[in-house]
Amino acid sequence: MKTAAERQCRRLLEQLSRYIDGDLTAVERKAVAAHLRRCPCCRTMADSLKHTVELCHEAGAARLPADVTRRARARIASLLASDRSGRSRT
Ligand SMILES: [Zn+2]
Repeated sequence: MKTAAERQCRRLLEQLSRYIDGDLTAVERKAVAAHLRRCPCCRTMADSLKHTVELCHEAGAARLPADVTRRARARIASLLASDRSGRSRT
């Protein structure tokens, strides 16, 4: 059985890469930030993703290399998939 908190985590993971890309609206960003403040699990995930992005920026890449983005998204997707246990999204 899923708790409300678990559903929020799943939604957050779906938004995380766009959050780090700066691709969310102000309202969405606020909701993500609020969730990260009280959810250590999602915060760890966000931190490691953000760290990857920062490293790439420091290395002088204007954009994330495609394979880095793809791997980060694949990791998020696999987390979502294990949580969803087989329900596919179209
Ligand atoms: Zn969470």
